Amino acid sequence: MMDRDYDVIVVGGGGAGLAAALMASAQGASCIIVEADGKLGGATAQSGGVFYAAGTQVQRAAGIMDDTPQALYDYLMTLNRWKMRPDLVRYYAEHAAEALEWLMELGTEFPEQWLVRSGVDSVARGHSSQGAGSGIADALINAAGAKGIETAYGSRVEELLFEDGRVVGIRAAGAELRAPTVIITTGGFGNNPQMLQRLYPSAACHGDWTWAVHKDVPFVLGDGINLAESIGAAVVGHDCGLLLPTSGFSKSLEAFLPPWIIAVNKEGSRFMSELSPYSVCGYLLNEQTERRAWAIFDEQALVQASTNTKYLDPYNAGISIPTWEEPTLREQVRKGRVKVANTLRELAEQVGIDGIALEQTAAVYNRDCANGCDSQFFKQAPAYFPVQQAPFYAVEIRSAIIGLTAAGLDIDSQARVLDGHKRPIPGLYAAGEVLGCFQGERYGGGGLSIGNAVVFGRLAGIEAARDALANPEGA
Ligand SMILES: Cc1cc2nc3c(=O)[nH]c(=O)nc-3n(C[C@H](O)[C@H](O)[C@H](O)COP(=O)(O)OP(=O)(O)OC[C@H]3O[C@@H](n4cnc5c(N)ncnc54)[C@H](O)[C@@H]3O)c2cc1C
Repeated sequence: MMDRDYDVIVVGGGGAGLAAALMASAQGASCIIVEADGKLGGATAQSGGVFYAAGTQVQRAAGIMDDTPQALYDYLMTLNRWKMRPDLVRYYAEHAAEALEWLMELGTEFPEQWLVRSGVDSVARGHSSQGAGSGIADALINAAGAKGIETAYGSRVEELLFEDGRVVGIRAAGAELRAPTVIITTGGFGNNPQMLQRLYPSAACHGDWTWAVHKDVPFVLGDGINLAESIGAAVVGHDCGLLLPTSGFSKSLEAFLPPWIIAVNKEGSRFMSELSPYSVCGYLLNEQTERRAWAIFDEQALVQASTNTKYLDPYNAGISIPTWEEPTLREQVRKGRVKVANTLRELAEQVGIDGIALEQTAAVYNRDCANGCDSQFFKQAPAYFPVQQAPFYAVEIRSAIIGLTAAGLDIDSQARVLDGHKRPIPGLYAAGEVLGCFQGERYGGGGLSIGNAVVFGRLAGIEAARDALANPEGA
């Protein structure tokens, strides 16, 4: 018989780990959260707090009566050309509303007036929480405290105990803890440059430009991937994740491009509506020649649009884009990062793009601005700013801010971690950003990552507890 200190050990106390621990405890399992950091919450606590779900009471309160899990499922599968795991997407679609309403019971508020269309779908499914990420994390942390769930802080798990083909515990800070089930909820790996090279090369390729929005969350290092891989777990979802566009001036979160620029590639052509949501924008930008493009604008746009606050948060998302304010841009002109010239042809020469094509692109765009309609990409801008009054400016832009990583562990529909032959590794479960099998090649919309953490965290907690309680003798 195996010694057991707990029925369930949860490795990492962010959104997924807290949800898992609460559900495991609700099944009657004894449980501990082992957390590397000095506090709980992880990236979840620092996030924007948007949760993606369909068919919720919040939507109904906002007058959206006809959204369904089926519609959410169809949207995600279609967006990813069915290159997603139907079983996991289906599970998500059918359980996201329940998970959101569970968070509401724990105290998170999702005001109906803050619902947003956070993807490229036609219905508002992005539920923004009061207090952003801490509104979600605090509710979970308080609930875990009220349930008396134990937490070991400052305990970075460095090894899984693996005996006779089963995970039987963990080692952290030189000490062993034993349990018949372990749930890995260590989050993503955006702060680990080596792992980015290996698992997210289209982010790593931008060198010094690349950084993760998780930069202030110290253990977003992919430990859970290494821990599970070392005992034979498969790693899937290579090169998947979300990249956001940036000028690279600073490490400020800029989720969107401003509406008053045109984005052109090396060939001197526009390639998207500059107002494209991030399910589109970052991916398209990263597909251009040399994986970069240039934001082009003129003096009038710089003076009028960049100082107008209504253009700083085009989505009313509460995320402004500080890079694109006049003082910053003028400072970057002085530093030589923003190029300036009296003609578009000269500007193109400075940045190394096709000048004849750029003039042609600007001519078409300027005509469209005069007509009030973008005939190429149908950008729905609040106002159009032609590119016609010298001097002209060019800012290099790249998709180099990591919004989330989506390569990682593979699970089955019971959240059991799979090996390279798609066999569950006995005793091992996972949920949240550590997974590589859920998001697919194209992130469906804001809220799917916290959604992943809470929906699959809950599932992992239930399944691990059942497994542990069904095996009273241990392994
Ligand atoms: C600024 C920002 C804004 C975001 N906005 C949104 C949004 O609005 N909507 C959305 O869906 N997503 C958003 N995201 C992404 C989302 O927050 C995360 O993908 C999600 O919260 C991950 O949850 P998780 O529980 O898997 O990981 P985390 O919440 O990151 O938790 C992982 C925990 O594991 C711990 N850990 C790591 N390694 C070890 C180890 N070896 N031993 C013990 N503990 C360990 C970490 O310290 C951490 O506490 C945002 C992220 C950031 C940073």
